[in-house]
Amino acid sequence: MNLFKRKTPSGITPESNQLLDECNERVQVLLNVSGSLIFFIREFAMDIAEIETDDFKNRLDKITENFQPDRTVYDLKGAFSDHKLFILDFIGRQKNHIREKEAEFMNIIEMLRNGMTAMFGDTRNFNAKIYDQNVRMEAITQLDDIRKIKESLKTEVRQMKQIIQEKQANDSKRIESLSKEVTVLRSSLEQVKDASMMDAMTGAFNRMTFDARMQWVIQRSEIVWNPTSLMMCDLDNFKQINDTYGHIVGDRVLKCFVQECKTMFRSDDFVARYGGEEFAIILPGINLREALKRARSFCKLLAGKQFLIDSLRPDERICFTVSIGVSELRKKDSCDAFIDRADKALYTAKRTGKSRAVSEKEV
Ligand code: GH3
Ligand code: MG
Ligand code: MG
Repeated sequence: MNLFKRKTPSGITPESNQLLDECNERVQVLLNVSGSLIFFIREFAMDIAEIETDDFKNRLDKITENFQPDRTVYDLKGAFSDHKLFILDFIGRQKNHIREKEAEFMNIIEMLRNGMTAMFGDTRNFNAKIYDQNVRMEAITQLDDIRKIKESLKTEVRQMKQIIQEKQANDSKRIESLSKEVTVLRSSLEQVKDASMMDAMTGAFNRMTFDARMQWVIQRSEIVWNPTSLMMCDLDNFKQINDTYGHIVGDRVLKCFVQECKTMFRSDDFVARYGGEEFAIILPGINLREALKRARSFCKLLAGKQFLIDSLRPDERICFTVSIGVSELRKKDSCDAFIDRADKALYTAKRTGKSRAVSEKEV
């Protein structure tokens, strides 16, 4: 059915009829072209939910429905003008969307560039190249540009991977050598710490460590009670040894004494040089009676021994004795009181003939 077909009124010439047919044909062609254009626009729209492409396509379909020969001119005009603004708006949204995507893409590249630069400050070359890419990104118009950028980025990323692998290998080597250094330093530190606790000449604990240990013993006894005894030892007539054989031999005698203590006492017992030729021994878990017994044995042992000192003549031996005062830790004792009772007993031992052990009870 033709859109503009009318009844031929009388008096109309065959030329007019021909003209009318021609018009009809044109209208038909225009309708086809318009329909095709709408179809192309429909196809051109990108399927993106954010810009409501579905809605856009529905509207285009509605316009197309009106492109039928039986619709009035009024229908045709309305079909287009009703949706004109929406179509323009959609095209604007689609353009914006593409621009935003491009900007996001550039942001990602910028972020990667900053990240890489932060990680590898020395790879300035890579940094500059990526920067160039950024500048070029702003001027992208051709698909070919994007492909070139992609290719060159691929190359750079490949090189970066290599750099990262080399850096990781170097880092692991460095970490390995640093941890070795740390191990060495730690053991040196331990040695220094140990050394600072000891009396360098005799190998016994030093006075500072003894004081700290006594504090610890007292504090611990307030929590868990355990019998603990103390021996204060003083080498007899040591001045005479020095005077007879010299100070070097005197030093060796002090060493021998500590050596003998280590053989005689348990590893739990705490042997310290209190000062000069005086030594203190803390015996945890040992009561006064047992401590006195051990002290007496020790005095006897030393008195019966002859010591070979390397700076003396090969056939020469040295003898020395020790006097010992023994005390036992009491509840609510202070360090000073505990030491003082052993000291007083030691004084008694000296006064009553030396080379003997005296308990605090005999004072
Ligand atoms: P007593 O039996 O009454 O204890 O007499 P003593 O001679 O042992 O005691 P005195 O206090 O008269 O002398 C101690 C000597 O110990 C004096 C000091 O020179 C000496 N002495 C102290 N420390 C050292 C040391 O590290 N090495 C040497 N060789 N001698 C030392
Ligand atoms: Mg002395
Ligand atoms: Mg002495």
